[in-house]
Amino acid sequence: MKGRPRATILESLASIHCKELHPPSRYGASHTIDLSLKMPQTRITAAKVTCDSVTFYYRPMHRGETGNTQVFRLLPQRTGYGVRHMFECCGRRVMRLYFVRGELHCRFCSGAIHLSQTTNKAGRKAIALSQLESLMGSSAYGRYRKLRERLAKRAGIALIAKPLR
Ligand SMILES: [Zn+2]
Repeated sequence: MKGRPRATILESLASIHCKELHPPSRYGASHTIDLSLKMPQTRITAAKVTCDSVTFYYRPMHRGETGNTQVFRLLPQRTGYGVRHMFECCGRRVMRLYFVRGELHCRFCSGAIHLSQTTNKAGRKAIALSQLESLMGSSAYGRYRKLRERLAKRAGIALIAKPLR
C-alpha cells in the first residue's frame, strides 16, 4: 500500500442534499437555513436559498472578518410530482454536494469515490484497507457490515470489529 495515493470516500465527507434546502418554487421567494448543526465539522453556518440559487455562508477565520460565501445555481427539473431542484457544479447537475478541501464540491470535482466503488478491483487498490476499517468502524459500521465481511474475506484477513476512533 505504500506510496499509493489514498482515495477519499464520499460517504465519509459532510454533505448536503438539494432536497434539504427546500428551494422555493416561486420567483422572488427566499429563505435562510441554519446549517451549523447539520454540518458542525465544516465552517458552513447557513444557506440562503431562492428558486434558482443557493449561497452558503462560511464562518470567518478571525473575529471581525467577513466570512466566505459559495454560490451554486439551482436548476429546477419537472418531475411527475412537481418540481425538483438540482445543484449545478462544474457544468453538471447533481443532487448532493460534499465538503472537501474546505469547500463544497460535487462528486465529480471532489476527487473522492463512493464506498461501493472500493469493491471494484481498481477501487480497492486505490484505498488503504486501514481507511476502510476506520470508516466502517464508525457510524457506518452497521450499514456496511456486508461489504466489510466481503472485503475481509477477499483480503483473507479479519478486519477489526471495533471502531478505530
Ligand atoms: Zn463539481
